[in-house]
Amino acid sequence: MALTKTPQEIEIMRRGGAILSRALAAAAALARPGAIIRDLDAAAEASMRAEGAAPAFKGYQTAPSDPPFPSTVCISVNQEVVHGLGNRGLALREGDIVGLDIGCWYQGLCTDMAITVPVGKVSAEDRALMDATRAATLAGVAAAKVGNAIRDISAAVEGSISAASGSASGGKPHGYGIVRALVGHGVGHKVHEAPQVPNYVSPLYRNVKITDGMCLAIEPMVTRGGWQVKTAPDEWTVVTVDGSRAAHFELTVACTEQGTEILTPWPVGY
Ligand code: MG
Repeated sequence: MALTKTPQEIEIMRRGGAILSRALAAAAALARPGAIIRDLDAAAEASMRAEGAAPAFKGYQTAPSDPPFPSTVCISVNQEVVHGLGNRGLALREGDIVGLDIGCWYQGLCTDMAITVPVGKVSAEDRALMDATRAATLAGVAAAKVGNAIRDISAAVEGSISAASGSASGGKPHGYGIVRALVGHGVGHKVHEAPQVPNYVSPLYRNVKITDGMCLAIEPMVTRGGWQVKTAPDEWTVVTVDGSRAAHFELTVACTEQGTEILTPWPVGY
């Protein structure tokens, strides 16, 4: 599969990304104390379907033998990092932080985005974690340009978190953990395409050149503790090993000779 998209394909992804952003806003607006997770999921799905898009994660399988993902939104609460099941009857509580990760298909092309939202009033530490993860996403986007390579994005995300991490821990290093087991990715023709976009610099990943028409999902996952994660017994939800809380933000961008464009703008206020 081609790593790049045509201008026509990018135009479709731009429209799909706007639909996706509105669906995410519909879910986020419901994230209040007492809200039931599956109601957020239903609101997002109804919103995108009303605009002619379809969920990209619902029914998704990592391998044919794996259970299909059950919901439109991955809803991950507190120590859950990503891939939390959005069809749960779980009620949100004051002080929770909730990752909302959503993807859609629109006219044959996929876009992918995420935010982490507070439920009611959250602690200053959790607020700082969310702010740092959001800022790291934007730092990655700023490095995602034609002529750079994927490792420039990784370095920008890692550098942004390292700087925030130092201030969060009173100057001690490693105040935050950057999740390593999961990475950003190319997106468009499939939910996950090459190249992989790690949130830290590692020689284990190919340092692919960013070329005209490349569409990338940049998605730092950051914890208030260690980087280690494991999969919960439901076979989907990724949680921190040390129980620390995590945040996740994500944007789909198109990198072209004209510049880099965010195709999935975060809802206003998040
Ligand atoms: Mg993604």
